[in-house]
Amino acid sequence: EHSREQALCEKKSETADGHPFVLRANVEFQEELNFVDIYQAEGIGLLRTESMYLHQSSFRDEEKQCDFYRTVLKATHPHPVTVRLFDAGGDKFFDLGQEEQNPFLGWRGIRMLLDQRPLLEQQLKAILKSAGTYPGRTRILVPMVTTLDEVEIINKTVKKLQNQLKENNCKVDEDIEVGLMVEVPNVAVQAEDFARKTDFLSIGTNDLTQYLLAVDRGNERISNLYDQRHPAVWRLIQMVAEAGKRTGTPVSVCGELSSDPVAACCLLGMGINELSMTPALLPKVKQALCSHTLKEMDQLVSEVLKCTTTAEVDSLFSNF
Ligand code: PEP
Ligand code: MG
Repeated sequence: EHSREQALCEKKSETADGHPFVLRANVEFQEELNFVDIYQAEGIGLLRTESMYLHQSSFRDEEKQCDFYRTVLKATHPHPVTVRLFDAGGDKFFDLGQEEQNPFLGWRGIRMLLDQRPLLEQQLKAILKSAGTYPGRTRILVPMVTTLDEVEIINKTVKKLQNQLKENNCKVDEDIEVGLMVEVPNVAVQAEDFARKTDFLSIGTNDLTQYLLAVDRGNERISNLYDQRHPAVWRLIQMVAEAGKRTGTPVSVCGELSSDPVAACCLLGMGINELSMTPALLPKVKQALCSHTLKEMDQLVSEVLKCTTTAEVDSLFSNF
């Protein structure tokens, strides 16, 4: 099994008819960095940064944050790393004065960061500095975006900090890309509006599903209702993929859905050829993508978009 996985990892990332795709790793802890290499992920598509805030010592310390990003960049050379801004709130609870009736609908992600500017600017500076050390490899990802105003403020703040760092003779990556998580349904519906204001879109199907279906992703009592294969999730993803094509904006997926091998085929069929997932799940996805043609995937897409229930999607997928 191990050597078979190894052989798979070393296989070229292209469909049976030669269309390339990119598989990256989701990473949360420094200890997971070696998996990027083991499973031959092309860098990190989602670096969750909340774990740093669990260690009080690196909390609110720009240099320690910067060291963490440099360690990540060093370990993943020469591939890109997408650093997601601190996504507190919801299921990621931190003692920042969050006590809310509906934390998932409350003060989380970018909403919180925009109210905590020193925290936001400190993190952005740490990211920008490390990006300057390894130019061309870092991308910034903004969690829980809901409004175009949030996007504008983030874009302006990044520019402002780049200029400040340059004035202080710090090396900066002039072309650093800033992208948005698509996890609040309105952003998917308005994908074209958001795409025009950003460098890339990354669909977070974990949250997108819970918000679209109004099902708490962590509540076991209703877990039968939580399914990322739901037909409405597929139709929403399709809308984002189309908006990406119309505007020339890259679209990727970093939620759990991308680690479901048949779902990955469907995503590729929609034109989303960059997927990020838990590294250990990468070989199975790669095998599925390598052994089908894009035409087969296209066919799967047209069928999935006709499904009306999750059960129909399941049966379609098990026959694929
Ligand atoms: C998501 O919501 O799909 C996602 C990737 O982010 P997280 O699971 O960290 O909320
Ligand atoms: Mg999320």
